[in-house]
Amino acid sequence: MTKAIRIHAHGGPEVMRWEDVPTPEPGPGEALVRHAAVGLNFIDVYFRTGLYKTGLPATLGMEASGTVIAVGPDVTEVAIGDRVAYATAPIGAYSTERVIAANRLVKLPDNIDFNTAAAMMLQGITAQYLLRRTYKVQPGETILVHAAAGGVGLIMCQWAKHLGATVIGVVSTDAKADLARAHGADHVIVGHADLAAEVRRFTGGAMVPVVYDSIGKDTFMASLDSLAPLGMMVSFGNASGPVGAIDVGLLGAKGSLFLTRPGLATYTAKRADLLHAASELFDVVGRGVVNIRVNQTFPLQDAARAHEALEARLTTGSTILLP
Ligand code: NDP
Repeated sequence: MTKAIRIHAHGGPEVMRWEDVPTPEPGPGEALVRHAAVGLNFIDVYFRTGLYKTGLPATLGMEASGTVIAVGPDVTEVAIGDRVAYATAPIGAYSTERVIAANRLVKLPDNIDFNTAAAMMLQGITAQYLLRRTYKVQPGETILVHAAAGGVGLIMCQWAKHLGATVIGVVSTDAKADLARAHGADHVIVGHADLAAEVRRFTGGAMVPVVYDSIGKDTFMASLDSLAPLGMMVSFGNASGPVGAIDVGLLGAKGSLFLTRPGLATYTAKRADLLHAASELFDVVGRGVVNIRVNQTFPLQDAARAHEALEARLTTGSTILLP
């Protein structure tokens, strides 16, 4: 038997249950992974509440690290005993063991421990594709990063700084502002009431070529107003709720802006892209350019408490769940 956090209905953290489920057998192209650590991500909340659709009952979670303990036929990517990690659909990571497509697994270098791997695969590969592909940040550019003290945020601040950018972070408290500054943010805005005015002040009126907005509903318009002409609005999350319908004409009126809604699944659909993103992440983490801050650890069976903390904006950096 395997233990898993499952939901039988959508709702608050209380819908999560710690249950026995039969240990699955790996089929063709699949591997069975014994989890060492599981990553907590905001997307887990969207699946729990039903904002993102899934069949029920469901095991939450999209990210974990661990050891391959069995493989099905035709598996070429990994072997029994390999240390691996993943950040991928389908959900099912909140479990002690799971079966997953072997071509979604990435082998871990010796210098990346299991806890760091579970903390960084999803948030770190997201930071990689946002900064290196969605909008390729250039040295000397000033960029705006929302939730700058969060999991994705702290990684983005450090990585963007390393790329030579000036980072303006947005956070909700002074303590989070200090944390963002300590991880590379040059300027920090607390709250988003006067976002565009603050960005104008920090950029001497130039505004920014790119906004990375994971907050959604509450900040979308203020983010558009913070962009320079021809700027890129990267709307990559909905922590405050989905953005909803957009009047395309607004993009013209606000300066011929670009708008994209990127997702990790698209950017890692090809295994070569997944491996390239992971290798860039392992490189910056291995060299100490990006430090992965595991600021909260919960037993996996207490995942509900972890969700409560994440939704109450009480976490900073990354959070892991230990089976
Ligand atoms: P975080 O650690 O960043 O936690 C979310 C943060 O969002 C909070 O700490 C809080 O920071 C801020 N926030 C603002 N408004 C709210 C609100 N109403 N409720 C809760 N939090 C709020 O989470 P992650 O690093 O896991 O993810 C960050 C964002 O990136 C999420 O929106 C997630 O969905 C998105 N994401 C998107 C991916 C993609 O490929 N598209 C992949 C990975 C993540 P503060 O208090 O400072 O405002």
